[in-house]
Amino acid sequence: MRLIFLGPPGVGKGTQAKRICEHYNIIHLSTGDILRSEMTEKTEIGEKAKAFIDAGELVPDDVLLGMMNNRLKKDDVQSGYLLDGFPRTIPQADGLNKIMDDLSHSLNCALSLTADADELVQRLINRGKESGRSDDTPDIIRQRQKIYWKQTAPLLDFYREKKLLKEVDGIGKISEITDRILEVLK
Ligand code: AMP
Repeated sequence: MRLIFLGPPGVGKGTQAKRICEHYNIIHLSTGDILRSEMTEKTEIGEKAKAFIDAGELVPDDVLLGMMNNRLKKDDVQSGYLLDGFPRTIPQADGLNKIMDDLSHSLNCALSLTADADELVQRLINRGKESGRSDDTPDIIRQRQKIYWKQTAPLLDFYREKKLLKEVDGIGKISEITDRILEVLK
């Protein structure tokens, strides 16, 4: 099973991704988590990414594509994965297609979790009080939402045209949303 999770910041992609990965016994690849750990370890990628992440901007496509090209070749992901937070732009989606073609990996589904924008900003402001994430402040949260609608939302049509898009309502109890996702993936 190979999946992409799409959806605006704060919709619960990470939470649902973990549950879906447990269900299918596949690897959860969150580019946000990978980039944050690169920053903590002060690697070359981490140093390149830091200013973009702190400003709520997207890290350049070539950095993401290089990083994911290496990651998707590793043994642990050969039987399946869920991409959480990647791709986020059309060039990343084109690049991912090529990476997957080269590995003879086919995509089962791009799953979009949907929710009302105002509710998400409030959720993220609350999360920011606990997460300690440098990009969970109100201004940066609004910036990340804006970038999602401008740069990432076009991916919905990209995958819809390929007949790979499934949309699921992301508002409700965590377990109910998981059930909705599992239902559309059947
Ligand atoms: P996330 O944890 O998915 O919200 O990602 C946190 C931040 O990491 C984003 O606001 C971006 O700065 C950066 N990031 C994560 N994934 C990507 C991606 N696919 N392309 C560009 N930047 C990304």
